Amino acid sequence: MNCKIAVIRGDGIGPEIVDATIGCLEAVAHRFGHTFKYAFPLMGGAAIDSTGVPLPQETIDECLNSDAVLLGAVGGPKWDNLATHLRPEKGLLNLRSALGLYANVRPAVLYEQLRGDSPLKPAITKKGINLVVVRELTGGIYFGPRGYRAGKYGQEAYDTEAYSKKEIERIAKVAFDVAMGRGKRVTSIDKANVLESSQLWRATVTKVAEQYPEIELSHMLVDNCAMQLVRDPSQFDVILCPNMFGDILSDEAAMITGSIGLLPSSSLGSTKLGLYEPIHGSAPDIAGTDTANPIATILAAAMMLSTSLELPKETAALEKAIKTILGKGYRTPDIYSTGNKKVSCSKMGELIALEVLNGK
Ligand code: NAD
Repeated sequence: MNCKIAVIRGDGIGPEIVDATIGCLEAVAHRFGHTFKYAFPLMGGAAIDSTGVPLPQETIDECLNSDAVLLGAVGGPKWDNLATHLRPEKGLLNLRSALGLYANVRPAVLYEQLRGDSPLKPAITKKGINLVVVRELTGGIYFGPRGYRAGKYGQEAYDTEAYSKKEIERIAKVAFDVAMGRGKRVTSIDKANVLESSQLWRATVTKVAEQYPEIELSHMLVDNCAMQLVRDPSQFDVILCPNMFGDILSDEAAMITGSIGLLPSSSLGSTKLGLYEPIHGSAPDIAGTDTANPIATILAAAMMLSTSLELPKETAALEKAIKTILGKGYRTPDIYSTGNKKVSCSKMGELIALEVLNGK
């Protein structure tokens, strides 16, 4: 297979984690007889320095002309004082919108080898954590009418949660499709006891579920879900959320697995083109030291192989290589503990790539 991947290295540790990931992708290409061509468009701080804007039009065009987009991370103190519309993070928001990406898919997995890193008690983690949060990305309160007005007690500010049936249907389908490839269970999150938008959300998700008779659908209030995630996260398979609830719950789900350097995410729309990235930022505090953990980005590449490139064997080989290397005790400093073998970012990438080449 020939495919083209737009690679946005980004800022801070971005170039380091992306380079380690490309080594792993090349190992996959070599073992399975594919050719991956890479383009390296700019976004974020690197784009601001070179073109004056965080998302040049050429970057959007390059991404639209690719089969998938792989991103390191953007941002850093150098650009923190710029106006909001010129900041690196604005580039990412605009890119998601330019590519029509309305679904954020974030797996949260507790690796057997790293069980001790979870802040939860062993009695809870012994049942494992393997869930996916599917978050609506382009609707809800972050995009509804907002402003200031005169209220009963003087000036007040307001934001509005609004969802159309169409927006709910398309994100629900993403969640059901993800669940079909996993445990076939979806927990839909809302606040239907209070919010009108949540009542439409619940009714619409229930209707979409009729198209997926194999899926077991349940509904849960968002406050209960926040509690259940720390009480017994093993009960969840796919968690479907409106934008703001998903923003909060996906960070909670990430936290309970213990390492920010291990979690990937994908942003998807109605075509096969997706954006794949680690959930963490550009970690300016460790940039340039070759100590970042590249595994979240390598796992994001595995999601890309599975979703946009539809290469299941290759995905499994890459995921297996990561587990094997962790199983052999190799750790970047963020997940290192006594008795393990401490390795750099680039070394971790090399070890996983070698394991892909040698693994059967
Ligand atoms: P961060 O995720 O960059 O870092 C938080 C902490 O986690 C730091 O101590 C960092 O060293 C550590 N860390 C993060 N990733 C790691 C990795 N792979 N390996 C080892 N340690 C890792 O969050 P922050 O410090 O709040 O943000 C830094 C910059 O990143 C800001 O400019 C922020 O706006 C930006 N940011 C970008 C994205 C993105 O590009 N999608 C997401 C979040 C934050």
